[in-house]
Amino acid sequence: MFTINENYLKLPGSYLFSNIAKKVNAYQSENPEAQILRLGIGDVTQPLAPAIIEALHKAVDEMANAETFHGYAPDLGYEFLRSAIAKNDYKDRGCDIAADEIFVSDGAKCDSGNIQEIFGLDNKIAVCDPVYPVYVDTNVMAGRSGEYNPNTQNFDGMIYMPCLEENDFVPEFPKENPDIIYLCFPNNPTGATITKAQLQEWVDYAKRIGAVIIYDAAYEAYITEEEIPHSIYECEGARECAIELHSFSKNAGFTGVRLGYTVVPKDLKCGDVQLHSLWARRHGTKYNGAPYIVQRAGEAVYSDAGKAQLKEQVAYYMQNAKVIYEGLKNAGYSVSGGVNAPYIWLKTPDKMTSWEFFDKLLHEANVVGTPGSGFGAHGEGYFRLSAFGSHENTIKAVERITKM
Ligand code: PLP
Repeated sequence: MFTINENYLKLPGSYLFSNIAKKVNAYQSENPEAQILRLGIGDVTQPLAPAIIEALHKAVDEMANAETFHGYAPDLGYEFLRSAIAKNDYKDRGCDIAADEIFVSDGAKCDSGNIQEIFGLDNKIAVCDPVYPVYVDTNVMAGRSGEYNPNTQNFDGMIYMPCLEENDFVPEFPKENPDIIYLCFPNNPTGATITKAQLQEWVDYAKRIGAVIIYDAAYEAYITEEEIPHSIYECEGARECAIELHSFSKNAGFTGVRLGYTVVPKDLKCGDVQLHSLWARRHGTKYNGAPYIVQRAGEAVYSDAGKAQLKEQVAYYMQNAKVIYEGLKNAGYSVSGGVNAPYIWLKTPDKMTSWEFFDKLLHEANVVGTPGSGFGAHGEGYFRLSAFGSHENTIKAVERITKM
């Protein structure tokens, strides 16, 4: 009789978004006239920029001719895209990353989940709390945790680093030394950022204790302040201790198109073994490359027209972030994020739990957000609002919340 990977049984059901949907559907059916506004989602709403659509059309036409048709893409990505990434995201920012250190994929969710495969099962994992759940769940599935403890809402054997108002939502070094540290800035869900000096301290710390940092830069395009780093490779020594994840979902609206990349520098080694060669092996064995059409669309992100159009698109969402942030702040809420990230993280008023505030918002303002407790124990008492809606709905939602 076959057996299963019992680690999967350690995972409690992922009820956050299904609970939200259930509550919203129930409310809507009891109140069919209510116009519910959704600021809960992390998905984009604006259409793809014209330069990207043009590149997609052109690539589709190429696929219609034998001379220009493309079959399997190179496992690690087309050279034209890897070079555009290396130049625009790294060289132009003064970071020393070569095109052959970039691995193109179909998005940061897969990469952030798969990257743990190249590490031993005895590695100790550290994550922020609250956290993007993929980092935790994929390590649990692999067997790097003990059981789930419903009282603490933590998995035994994992290191949770609280991110609270008191530390500006940037974690402190944990008491116990981790081997693999997941950091995500600008952060989902808190919208917090890290300064270059703080990130340098993390790089120095990782090198000192022999740990690897997995740095998720999915929201890098939303950084508006000069002094905030766009990449961990802006820090000295990061080539020896950090892997970086990128997505085209939030900067270019590719959530339904699917494209991302991971950087594994050749200087990152365990003894004599380059992690670069392990990830190349894993990628080559289990992945057959992002589609040609999509990689051409990705290349257009870095064209002059693409850059200008996407700057406007990001600014559109950040205008929403400003409306939410300022509207709620003026109404007396304690808010953070929203300045270098498309998420606003607010403290629930009157010591309400995250779900109590969710219900109040749904019933009294007909607005949907995301309870912070869904991202971890230290998200309790907080609430996430997203700037990815339309201007009209965002303005309406903020008016309703502030009148509540
Ligand atoms: N990383 C973070 C922190 C995210 O919030 C998300 C999506 O919400 C992703 C990665 C996933 O990105 P992708 O759409 O490229 O898979």
